[in-house]
Amino acid sequence: MSSQFLVQVINRHRMTVDGKGVTTLVGLFGCPLKCKLCINKNVLSENKFRRMTPEMLWNELSIDYCYYLASGGGITFGGGESLLHAGAIIEFVKILPTGVSVNLETSLNAPISDKLFLETVDSVLETGGELIIDIKSLDKDIYKSYTGLDNGKVLRRLEMLLENGYQDKCQIRVPVIPEVKDMSIAEKEATSIEKMGFNNIDLFYYIIRDYMIEK
Ligand code: SF4
Repeated sequence: MSSQFLVQVINRHRMTVDGKGVTTLVGLFGCPLKCKLCINKNVLSENKFRRMTPEMLWNELSIDYCYYLASGGGITFGGGESLLHAGAIIEFVKILPTGVSVNLETSLNAPISDKLFLETVDSVLETGGELIIDIKSLDKDIYKSYTGLDNGKVLRRLEMLLENGYQDKCQIRVPVIPEVKDMSIAEKEATSIEKMGFNNIDLFYYIIRDYMIEK
């Protein structure tokens, strides 16, 4: 697994939208899913990304170190799929000074081993960060037809998070997806996730610009 990031976008000074305190969102290139209504198309273009080592990235982000310290904030890796960059994330955490938390936005469905998955999760949660997990759908048929992949890995990794006692460090996002999954399905899924043992659940609507324009 490469220890270089492919960075599409860096968004500074975000407040409480993707992690505690002041955060910087680092949008990483690549995604294994093929969602029919992709809400992050801008991170899938191969023409734009910058290759950055963990050291190069921290050199750029450290300008906001005092904001992270003062607010209890830090850095959120999103995408695309942040876990495609698992090796670089582990190396990045190693060089961080104390007081900077690292959060991951993920679908959990990255093609990495469960061992590397858990190693990455351990390393970011040790910083005081959290996982922000978009489950798309618990229903295997909806998931498959919407993303092109099976959700077996997602379900297994949710169980792994529970087995490791990480449920309080996970926000589970359950989307309502236009013409794919309505609120009544999303609410049932949220209840199932709560019964599994997660307590921080966010029901939300996908807002997809192209879809809105086409409609
Ligand atoms: S997971 Fe996100 S980036 Fe990947 S295809 Fe789906 S919406 Fe797009």
